[in-house]
Amino acid sequence: MPSIKELKETLAYSCNILAHEGHWDNILGHVSVRIPGQDRVLMKPHSFGFEEIRPQHIIVVDLNGKKVEGKYERHSEVFIHTEIYKARADVNCVVHSHPPYATAFGALRQPLRPVSHEGNIFHDGLPLFDYTTALIRSAELGKELAKSLGKCRGVLMKNHGSTVVGESIEVATLYAIFLEKAARIQLMVTASGDPSWTSEEEAKIKYEQIYTPHRLGSMWDYFVRRAKKFRKLT
Ligand SMILES: [Zn+2]
Repeated sequence: MPSIKELKETLAYSCNILAHEGHWDNILGHVSVRIPGQDRVLMKPHSFGFEEIRPQHIIVVDLNGKKVEGKYERHSEVFIHTEIYKARADVNCVVHSHPPYATAFGALRQPLRPVSHEGNIFHDGLPLFDYTTALIRSAELGKELAKSLGKCRGVLMKNHGSTVVGESIEVATLYAIFLEKAARIQLMVTASGDPSWTSEEEAKIKYEQIYTPHRLGSMWDYFVRRAKKFRKLT
């Protein structure tokens, strides 16, 4: 089980990686991780861009959304995280952001198709949350979002952004990056013509072929190496 120090380090890399992989949006967007065995969560604070985050910035919130540790301000949309953790025992990391392609794609109300490899990750479905397009600033709205997410790996939020979940920081971060790529490719092909896509049956096979724990580990390690290079440049 990773220590809090290790989780803070991994969470900071998640933020840095997202900044360079299509999820940068000024100081907006946030990632959190459940502290194992506790009703507490480590979370990116408000007022910083994803690329600026280092372990010392991370704050701690409880499952009511109250900040219990850390010197920086918490994001007002903390309830996206807390209500998903309450609803999904299998989820240990939540990534919420406003990536341009996934946001544009969500406004079209189209189902995501496995046009590229990345689309196969969401073969179980990618719901659209349309209860509100406003910020998720209450536990009630957080519960509605968790309801829309259901048992899926991610949810598009109409005229807002996306939320992607996973059993670890590594998986949720990679899937958030791959959702943005899948949305970008589907937008490209539908704008250009009448696309084909992988069948439902093959999508499950492809998902298991490509996104094995070993490969996801290698992909994560690669993104961390890239993030380290970016850190040296700034
Ligand atoms: Zn948001």
